Amino acid sequence: MKIVTSEDSPERRRFLHLTGSAIAAASVLGVTTQSSWANAAVPASSVGTTPSSDLPKAVTLPAMQDDKAEKSEMPVQLGQDGRLGIAIVGLGRLSLEEIMPALATSKRCRVTALVSGDREKAKRVAAMYNVPESSIYDYQTFDEMRDNAHVHAVYIVLPNALHREFTVRAAKAGKHVLCEKPMATSVADCQAMIDACKAAQRLLMIAYRIQYEPLNRQVMEWVRGGSVLGKIKLIDMANCQNQSKENPRQWRHVKALAGGGALPDIGLYCLNTARFLLGEEPVEVSASQYSSEGDTRFNEVEEAILWQMRFPSGVRVQSTSSYATFTSKRYRVLGDEGWADMDPAFSYQGLQLKRSRIAEDTDEFIAPGIEQISTKAKNQFALEMDHFAECVASNKQPWTPGEEGLQDQRIMDAIYESARIGKPVRLTSVEALDSFRGTPPSKI
Ligand code: NAD
Repeated sequence: MKIVTSEDSPERRRFLHLTGSAIAAASVLGVTTQSSWANAAVPASSVGTTPSSDLPKAVTLPAMQDDKAEKSEMPVQLGQDGRLGIAIVGLGRLSLEEIMPALATSKRCRVTALVSGDREKAKRVAAMYNVPESSIYDYQTFDEMRDNAHVHAVYIVLPNALHREFTVRAAKAGKHVLCEKPMATSVADCQAMIDACKAAQRLLMIAYRIQYEPLNRQVMEWVRGGSVLGKIKLIDMANCQNQSKENPRQWRHVKALAGGGALPDIGLYCLNTARFLLGEEPVEVSASQYSSEGDTRFNEVEEAILWQMRFPSGVRVQSTSSYATFTSKRYRVLGDEGWADMDPAFSYQGLQLKRSRIAEDTDEFIAPGIEQISTKAKNQFALEMDHFAECVASNKQPWTPGEEGLQDQRIMDAIYESARIGKPVRLTSVEALDSFRGTPPSKI
């Protein structure tokens, strides 16, 4: 972890400020209006082995966000041996643009099967990632994966309401399950997923990539350590983006498929990251939500939700999540002796951590400087998948197991309830730290 300090240097501070603006401007200029498979990185393993006339055709995805500002990383050569074989279930935006390219940088996983309702698309993707056509399944033939010895686990990347069905079916087929967030759309579904995996003695992990990301983990250490920021008092968080108006009926706007609007999709990052940073569980939530009249994107689900959480240590967390503003994915932790700021905090790449704290070893008042903390960027999906593979290999409970997703669902239910009744809602108090987490990820 490298620290660039701006203390005692107003020029340096101005430079950092300007650099930050330049980076922000560059990312705005880099916005792609249309996303396609052609934009996603091609694994090196497919380069040079496929005749150019046989190159897979582009798979085009509809626009999801207006202000999409994130791109995939270029992957490296896939290894073939000793890796956990994963079936990717659902070939939508996240699978094609992030997870499959990330698998190429994973040390412990490789893709061995695909599940899709669109066989032609699956065949094109399979050709790019060297998956045999015999390992392409659809949602009906999914259970036949039980006989595929190359598939040890499935990664479920489907609309939220389908997570339960495919987790239960995977467990019954003898596969371990890595499931995207949010875990499901109800407490009952989360519990059924945990029970099914326990009964089949398979691991269940929820893909909370932020909990594996080095800068967020650094903040967690400062928050829990006490010596860098002092006593933590407040955390102010936001995860906002502007949903595309092209398809107001996309599944994220359909309550039966998404479970809710901004909260379970992006607000969940604030909720889950606050719990992770503190290790504690909230004892009370209060919330309000709204949808702008006449905006057909939000006929069924909330456009925006604002909520506060009170934690046993006294820390208050203020969170905002909107589906109708320009992208803002950030938080600031405020202690009585310093603050830590992540902006962006929840993006796939380009995370930035800054901190400021009281000057040491002096009686004089010195205006606090701002330090930028940097680290070698790591692919968050690869880190998360490698942790999952390590847990499967050693039969250990993952750091973010099903119980972690279930707890988030309980709290989201309470947040919605508070918004509905217009009063704070109390939650069952939980004494121990990290009560719902398993084996910590290895140091990287
Ligand atoms: P997407 O719409 O791009 O892809 C969904 C896939 O599911 C598509 O291939 C679609 O064909 C398939 N599908 C199967 N049955 C469907 C049905 N009944 N209705 C609609 N689609 C159906 O969505 P996505 O952005 O890839 O999101 C998938 C999951 O990943 C969601 O749970 C989402 O919350 C999660 N996600 C996580 C992150 C993260 O950073 N961890 C980011 C984006 C999405």
